[in-house]
Amino acid sequence: MILQQASLGVLGGGQLARMFAAAARTMGYEVIVLDPDPMCPAAPIANKHLQHDYTDREALAYLAGHCDAVTTEFENVPVEALHSLEARCLVRPAAVAVEYAQDRIREKTFIRDCGLATAPFHPVRDDTELAAALSVVMMPAILKTAALGYDGKGQRLVYDEAQAYRVFAELGKPPCVLEQRIELQMELSVLLARSSRGEVACYPVAENVHVNGILDTSIVPARVSPDVMERVTGMARTLAERLDYCGLLAVEFFLTGDDELLINEIAPRPHNSGHYSLDGCVTSQFEQQVRMLCGLPPGDTRLLSPVVMINLLGDLWQPQAPDWGGVLAHPNVKLHLYGKHAPRPGRKMGHCNVLDPDVERALDTAGRIRRALRGGVDSPVTYATGA
Ligand code: ADP
Ligand code: MG
Repeated sequence: MILQQASLGVLGGGQLARMFAAAARTMGYEVIVLDPDPMCPAAPIANKHLQHDYTDREALAYLAGHCDAVTTEFENVPVEALHSLEARCLVRPAAVAVEYAQDRIREKTFIRDCGLATAPFHPVRDDTELAAALSVVMMPAILKTAALGYDGKGQRLVYDEAQAYRVFAELGKPPCVLEQRIELQMELSVLLARSSRGEVACYPVAENVHVNGILDTSIVPARVSPDVMERVTGMARTLAERLDYCGLLAVEFFLTGDDELLINEIAPRPHNSGHYSLDGCVTSQFEQQVRMLCGLPPGDTRLLSPVVMINLLGDLWQPQAPDWGGVLAHPNVKLHLYGKHAPRPGRKMGHCNVLDPDVERALDTAGRIRRALRGGVDSPVTYATGA
């Protein structure tokens, strides 16, 4: 067990690393962040910021020499950096698990090999494979680049064969998957922690609404049957066990019209759809990440209150930063801002958690907050404390 006064390293200094650092420091650990961006959100919270590339040999040697354990905040960290650290210090999750999440072809093949369902897909690495894919994947379909996609980037919807060839060429023919577009009843996700001793703790299932491929809202608990919740949790557990995973794992699901569950993708780290846990659960996903990294038992994942999380994207900063007074006037709303300096449209700048014993009322409040931030006229309603 790694206890207080130890140093924890994290590759990547975005908002996930910032919230990890806050949790770790609260628990008495020191945090060293590696991120080439001088303005990265985690820098002001960490004890030390190594402003170098992820493959910088000296920076990796420094991390290995000064940290008791190292984790990552994003799956697209160069895998050679993880391997080089693994040879010298404790790295969780293991590089091999991160590698699955880096490549949609490997990821989806692995999920299928675990006996779990995915949307029908086929790898596409050249025109011959595209022809094979077109013979098995029904239209319309989505051509997704295998690597480096996030928030819907690197994905194109195609309606026929000619368009599929055209789009593949336009993307520059990188390795891709062609995946059937599913008529979604709902999107769901679950977070799970698995310790070095194989103890597993699952969080409540989140219901997710995406807009333009980016998470917009998470509703917890998801408004699905106990049967769906159990199947989601069971499938996530199977993946974690097959990976002999140690750390925090997020699994995204599609729920089809006939209640079939398909696994969309996995993330070997805390997840945007788990931000509700910061205020809604006994143990936040970031404390849980610290616990898993340090070989501690998983913390209690119990939901303290229904919660709706809304993402705050850079669009809301146009032309200037919103006035947060209206948000903070709600006694049951928690505002989280990531300290990012360039509020580009589509960029995740922060989020709000709306806590309410009535999940529909939480959704209603979340909607009113969003409209007010967009310049609408809705004003906050205050609830009597304890209502
Ligand atoms: P990213 O890595 O960008 O999150 P995803 O594969 O999760 O990529 O896709 C982002 C979003 O696009 C999903 O959450 C979902 O809303 C939509 N999407 C992706 N694949 C499909 C599909 N096969 N059918 C329907 N919607 C999809
Ligand atoms: Mg996704």
